[in-house]
Amino acid sequence: MKQYDYLIVGAGLFGSVFAREAADTGKKVLVIDRRPNIAGNVYTKDVEGIHVHEYGAHIFHTNNREVWDYVNRFAVFNRFTNSPVANYKGELYSLPFNMYTFNKMWGVVTPAEAEEKIRKQREEAGISEPKNLEEQAISLVGTDIYEKLIKGYTQKQWGRPCSELPAFIIRRLPVRFTFDNNYFNALYQGIPVGGYTRMVENLLQGIEVRLNEDYLLRKKEWDALADQVIYTGAVDAYFGYVLGNLEYRSVRFETEILDMPNFQGNAAVNYTDSETPWTRIIEHKWFEFGKDEEGRDLPRTVISREYSSEWKPGDEPYYPVNDEKNSALYARYKELADQEENVIFGGRLGEYRYYDMDAVIASSLELCRRKLG
Ligand code: UDP
Repeated sequence: MKQYDYLIVGAGLFGSVFAREAADTGKKVLVIDRRPNIAGNVYTKDVEGIHVHEYGAHIFHTNNREVWDYVNRFAVFNRFTNSPVANYKGELYSLPFNMYTFNKMWGVVTPAEAEEKIRKQREEAGISEPKNLEEQAISLVGTDIYEKLIKGYTQKQWGRPCSELPAFIIRRLPVRFTFDNNYFNALYQGIPVGGYTRMVENLLQGIEVRLNEDYLLRKKEWDALADQVIYTGAVDAYFGYVLGNLEYRSVRFETEILDMPNFQGNAAVNYTDSETPWTRIIEHKWFEFGKDEEGRDLPRTVISREYSSEWKPGDEPYYPVNDEKNSALYARYKELADQEENVIFGGRLGEYRYYDMDAVIASSLELCRRKLG
């Protein structure tokens, strides 16, 4: 008999949801994380009375009612709606691509005019079957929007030309012929009041958590403690990179406290030209509903400039690069992972997938159904 039924490696969303469900079915659970804090990349920290998204903007959005009901057990969500602004060399555009964007770009007024403009540009570019992100983007919104709002941003974000990236990445963004600048096609959207860290604290209530513990450094000892391991770290790291490393994009944030109540008037502004070195600036106070009134009274504001870079050993991996080469390598790691008895790989890093938060939770709940009944 081992001391625990489950050792959960990583206190992010995948691990914390599994831990909660396992504990609630009477399993003995230990959660470890190599960071000094819980909550993985959704971690938020209180600075100047503002919940700072330490690992980048996280806006919870989902169409999955089960997931929405689930997270609402652990947090009250505000009614924040993401509507980022694109700044292209000082010209401001509404995102995602919608009638406000088309009007500003071309002066068109009706949806029919906008559709005609895009149809023409698609035709001129001669694209019928989009094979990569560039062709997909042009075929969805035309060359002008591609050139000003997509090309530079995407190349900075991914460090690769759009012609070498998979089309699905740009399909994350809605294209709307309405005056609706809600960035997500999701029935439910919001940010946990009190921050994500508090939500994850609630998920992990009563569960043993040990921080600053690196599983891979003492793997044998940890494995001896539990019957099963739920591993949410990077899959290639687990195997000591035996097949070579998978590629990730990493992100660096330069966070500043500014002595002014309002820096940019919006939670997210994307810098879509290729010269500006950062991809976007987040002004954290605007994620918090009610802060628009209170926020004006808060004398200061906290902003983070986000810089994207190619991951190298020692960096935090953020985004898997799901192109052909890496997908093929991941498939080989997956074969190894499937042979690991007693270890289940989950989450963005464990499954090398560009998962949103709701999809991570859905996949963890699915695993709970399989393992815990
Ligand atoms: N994108 C873009 N311009 C923008 C915002 C997004 O070209 O102003 C593209 C870019 O390729 C990006 C992708 O759309 O990687 C997905 O954007 P999303 O906001 O979903 O990325 P995330 O918030 O996950 O970084």
